[in-house]
Amino acid sequence: MELHDDLILKSLGLQGIKIEYWATCDEELKLVLYARQNRNEAVCNVCANSITHVHEWKLRKIRAAPLGAYEEVWIYLKQLRGNCHICGDRVRSSKVAFTHPHFKNMTYSLCEKAGRLMEELTCEASARILRLKSKTMWDIDQYRMKQMKKHLNYAERDLDLESMSADEVHYRTIFGKKSSDKNKVQFVTNLVCTNISKVLSNAMGRKGSSLLNCLKVLRPEQLLKIKYFALDMHDAFIKVVEHACKNAKICIDRFHLAQGVNDVFDEVRKIEFKLAKDNEDKFLMEVLAPHRKYILVEREKNLSKKDYTKLERLLDILLGARYSLHSLSV
Ligand SMILES: [Zn+2]
Repeated sequence: MELHDDLILKSLGLQGIKIEYWATCDEELKLVLYARQNRNEAVCNVCANSITHVHEWKLRKIRAAPLGAYEEVWIYLKQLRGNCHICGDRVRSSKVAFTHPHFKNMTYSLCEKAGRLMEELTCEASARILRLKSKTMWDIDQYRMKQMKKHLNYAERDLDLESMSADEVHYRTIFGKKSSDKNKVQFVTNLVCTNISKVLSNAMGRKGSSLLNCLKVLRPEQLLKIKYFALDMHDAFIKVVEHACKNAKICIDRFHLAQGVNDVFDEVRKIEFKLAKDNEDKFLMEVLAPHRKYILVEREKNLSKKDYTKLERLLDILLGARYSLHSLSV
């Protein structure tokens, strides 16, 4: 075997084959390696004993991981089929060690690369990068997660569970067939340990029972270790945490607090707008019109000159109102 063949085989995570020739399409960054299984290394894929006679060389097309400049690498493999004495002289295929047991027309290294990408990116983005179908990517991701979940035994680990959070995320929308049909929106609840920045578990739905299912990955003593639990203002979740995590203080996240303040702010704006309308106060009507949005000003310095003038005028009115109220109470 040539030295460079060995490097290519190693880079692609292949064993037990010899490259016979290759072809490329440089415009499409595509590489096809024509390879044959090594006769002396071939073993029966049922009993792992050596294959005695060659029955045929069966052609298999296998997708491999990207190699150097080539984004799409194919191996056209001639797989040995021959008689195995141990299996009663039946014709068996020779074992290919580098193909994935579940995704048989892909190599292990490609599936692993795809899986790692999907830990960082979406299935769609990873599919574009690796030139695979997004459904295949989804299947690889699901398969890999199921395998990895077996090793994620949080109940037996000593985790720092001081701060936790739970929230629902949009999972998918099933659109109605007819325009009169209602769309079905589905959610997934995530349980996050904020100390280690990890999603510990998730469950379908956004009911209290969904969060309860998430919490099942932890032992009762672990639940008692939680000091802070961040939630949105979802009553069902609050009830579950109050019941299951007796030592946890429930913290409402900043986003939902700001949302609450803004809602109240808008209610006041509506009342004041109606008053201004009754009093025919043109300036206030303009300032309090429904299309205007208000947020709390944190940094006055960042305001434009026009906005700053408006703020000053508003403050004048506000201070004036306070003054008149004060005079009334006196
Ligand atoms: Zn056999």
